[in-house]
Amino acid sequence: MRWRPGLPGDRLAARRVDTVAELRQLVTWARQHPDVTAVRHRRVRELVGDPPDVCRRGHRYGGGSATRAALGWRECACGGHIIHTCGWPGCGDVQPDPPSARTAAPAR
Ligand SMILES: [Zn+2]
Ligand SMILES: [Zn+2]
Repeated sequence: MRWRPGLPGDRLAARRVDTVAELRQLVTWARQHPDVTAVRHRRVRELVGDPPDVCRRGHRYGGGSATRAALGWRECACGGHIIHTCGWPGCGDVQPDPPSARTAAPAR
């Protein structure tokens, strides 16, 4: 949902709906709202299970800020993956969550 520029606060508001009826209600509301310029919606797959806490070389993602994993997001046909990039020097392991056959680094 994109708000007209110039409003205070975030221009991009993400709402989560669980049913088609709720989605229809939200879209109907947004179309009537003068400040909403675009409505996008997509299915988001629930992320199941615990996020990984070690990279595939066994480095812990927790730790101090120096070694904390960087988080990213990759759009995917299955709904998307959270991307954990290992922060350990010289490692650079990039791990999608949930795991994916595509393990290449994200484009950006
Ligand atoms: Zn690592
Ligand atoms: Zn995927």
